[in-house]
Amino acid sequence: MKVIFDAAQKKHYPGFFLTSGARAPNPEVPARADILFAAARAAGLTPEEPPDLGLAPAAAIHTPEYLAFLKGIFARWQRIEGASEEVIPNIHPNGRGGSYPLSAVGQAGYHMADTSCPIGAETYEAALRSAHAAAHAAQQVAEGAAAAYALCRPPGHHAFTDMAGGFCYLNNSAIAAQRLRASTARVAILDIDVHHGNGTQGVFYDRADVLTVSLHADPARFYPFFWGHAAERGDGAGLGYNLNLPLPRKTGDEGFLTALDHALSRIAAFCPGALVVALGLDAYEGDPFAGLSVSTPGFGRIGAKIGELGLPTVVVQEGGYVCDALGDNLVAFLDGFRASHRVVTEVSR
Ligand SMILES: [Zn+2]
Repeated sequence: MKVIFDAAQKKHYPGFFLTSGARAPNPEVPARADILFAAARAAGLTPEEPPDLGLAPAAAIHTPEYLAFLKGIFARWQRIEGASEEVIPNIHPNGRGGSYPLSAVGQAGYHMADTSCPIGAETYEAALRSAHAAAHAAQQVAEGAAAAYALCRPPGHHAFTDMAGGFCYLNNSAIAAQRLRASTARVAILDIDVHHGNGTQGVFYDRADVLTVSLHADPARFYPFFWGHAAERGDGAGLGYNLNLPLPRKTGDEGFLTALDHALSRIAAFCPGALVVALGLDAYEGDPFAGLSVSTPGFGRIGAKIGELGLPTVVVQEGGYVCDALGDNLVAFLDGFRASHRVVTEVSR
C-alpha cells in the first residue's frame, strides 16, 4: 500500500481562525503532514509523489468561477489598501442571490463559508497538490491496487463545489470518488471524521451513483451546525443515497462501532465497486476538538471493520489535529484495515 503525498502540500500555513469569536492559532498546520507521513512510513507504506495532474481533478467537482477565485484571490487581496495579510471574509451572505459580486471582498464572502479557511500566498498550490494526491491514489486503485492512502493536507470534506470552509478548499474525497466513477458504476464514501462531511454531502446530494455516509458528532451543537442531521437523506435522484449518523458528544468506541456497523451494512447493500474512506482522526478522545471519544485501539477496530467490506479502497486524509496520539491513531487504523482487507472481486462474489 502506498502513501501519496507531495511536500508542496505543506506550503499552506494558515495563521489563525476564529473560535467562538476569539482569534486563535489555526490548528491545520504543516506539522500534521509530517506526523501523518512518518506514521504512514512506520506502518510500512511506500511513499510516492503524485504527478502534476493540472486542474482536471478539481474541475471535475468544482465550478470554474470558484477555481478562478482560489487561484487569483490572494494577489487581488494584496491590492486592497489596509487589507489583512490572508484572505478572510467579512461578509457571510445568508443564502445567495443569482448575482456574482465583482469585488474581491464580495467574492470572499461568496466562496468562503467561515473564517477557518484563510487563503495565503501558497494556499492554492498546496490545495491543488492535495487534490492531486487524492486523484492519484484513486487512479492507482482504479488500475487494480487493492488500496491506497492519500495524505491529503489541506483536508477537503467541508469544501462544496463553489465554497471553502472548515480548513478545506478542494474536496479531495469527492475528487477521488469522481475519479473512481470512471471505472465503476457505483462508489461509496464513508466519512468518519468527527465533523460532518457537509461539502461531500453537498457535492453528491442529488446523485444516486455516489452513496455518501457520515458518522460525526451531532451538529446540533457542533461544527458544521447547518448540515449533518439525520433527516438529510438526499434530493431528487439522490434521495436515499445520503446517510447521516450523528452521535452524542463524547461517544466512545462501542457507540461508534455500533453506528459503523449500520453504515457498513448500508454500504454493502449499495454494492459499490469501490470505497473512499474520508479518514478524519479527530474523533480521538484526546483531539483538541473534543467531539467524540474514540481510543487509539478503537481506530484499529474501525479500520478492521472497514477492511472487511473487501472493496477496493482509497483512504483520504481529512481532519485529526496535533495531539499525543495523532500518528499512533493513523498506524492503528492502517494496521487494522490491512489485517482484514481482502478485496473480493466481482468474479469471486
Ligand atoms: Zn474534522
